[in-house]
Amino acid sequence: MSNSLPLRPELRGRSAYGAPQLDVTIRLNTNENSWPLPDGLSQEVARAVGEVAGGLNRYPDRDAAALRSDLAAYLGHDLTAAQLWPANGSNEILQQLLQAFGGAGRSALGFTPSYSMHPLISLSTGTSWHDGPREADFGIDPARAAAAVREHRPDVVFVTSPNNPTGTAVSLEVITAVYAEAPGMVIVDEAYAEFARPGTPSALELLSGRERLVVTRTMSKAFGMAGLRLGYLAADPAVVEALQLVRLPYHLSTLTQVVARVALSYRHELLATVQRVCEQRDRIAAALPELGLRAVPSDANFLLVGGFPDSHKAWQVLLDHGVLVRDLEIAGHLRITAGTPAETDALLAALPAVHEAVPELSSDRGQSAS
Ligand SMILES: *Cc1c(COP(=O)(O)O)cnc(C)c1O
Repeated sequence: MSNSLPLRPELRGRSAYGAPQLDVTIRLNTNENSWPLPDGLSQEVARAVGEVAGGLNRYPDRDAAALRSDLAAYLGHDLTAAQLWPANGSNEILQQLLQAFGGAGRSALGFTPSYSMHPLISLSTGTSWHDGPREADFGIDPARAAAAVREHRPDVVFVTSPNNPTGTAVSLEVITAVYAEAPGMVIVDEAYAEFARPGTPSALELLSGRERLVVTRTMSKAFGMAGLRLGYLAADPAVVEALQLVRLPYHLSTLTQVVARVALSYRHELLATVQRVCEQRDRIAAALPELGLRAVPSDANFLLVGGFPDSHKAWQVLLDHGVLVRDLEIAGHLRITAGTPAETDALLAALPAVHEAVPELSSDRGQSAS
């Protein structure tokens, strides 16, 4: 980037969000759902778009009323449309939240390692950032979390559950402990909620009576609709009203609204792949030990895999074998998305090459891996 532009000082020398978008057949790097979309969905999308196309000379419904009702019905928990708010991906939701509740002179805190966009959107909205503590198993301890909030008094706290990139879900006790201590907003980013093991509670259960609590969700992951750009939040109606002060007018296009409604009407078919993805995740996890690798237990559609002697080199070796995974610069670790059985086959076929590049480890893993 040019050094002569009068860029804000805090943005100088920074690099943009950069998961590489490479033309590789096996793309396990951005946690999309790679199962094919259900029969009939694309025709239904085309029909719904056709129906509204003649009205595209008009601005969309600014308040996305019909979509918000559908989202409330999907989430359940007695939520109403007034508590739901959609935007172009949950990243835009997070940005609106920081525009309204963060900003100059304010701060945010998140328990790292976690989603890199939380500190990045904080930065871009002028909100300063604090790292909160995680335990050795990447979990969050309620008492230590509450102590970090007490120490820094952040205006916004992020809790990602299940967490990206570790896959770790937190108990509701963590959220209530953080909320009790937080002077400002508590945002629970549940982008991967649909993948969590049965019985994993959602922070949606806690919304009633907690005006400063927000739960964000997305259609980019379990729903397999990353290309649609539809994220949303559930919160007190007062939070939704606050966001209407900062959102751009008509932020959500007519096309996005109708296609999201079609996708929600296909939720049973779309979410049928969740179980299949989890099976592939567990299949990958089970195959790792004999390769001298191990995964953090995951409630999401990906695994944080550790045990790589050189994770940068391993990333390149996998790419050379046509498999793109994510290097998040956590020493010895790579994040790998679970997808279809064929993708798992390709990954498991490529993984031994990682060791061939590093002879010391291949002698440790015995005969069975060959
Ligand atoms: C992928 C992801 C999102 C989703 O972002 P969208 O803008 O909805 O595509 C949000 N939070 C986390 C933790 C994620 O991993």
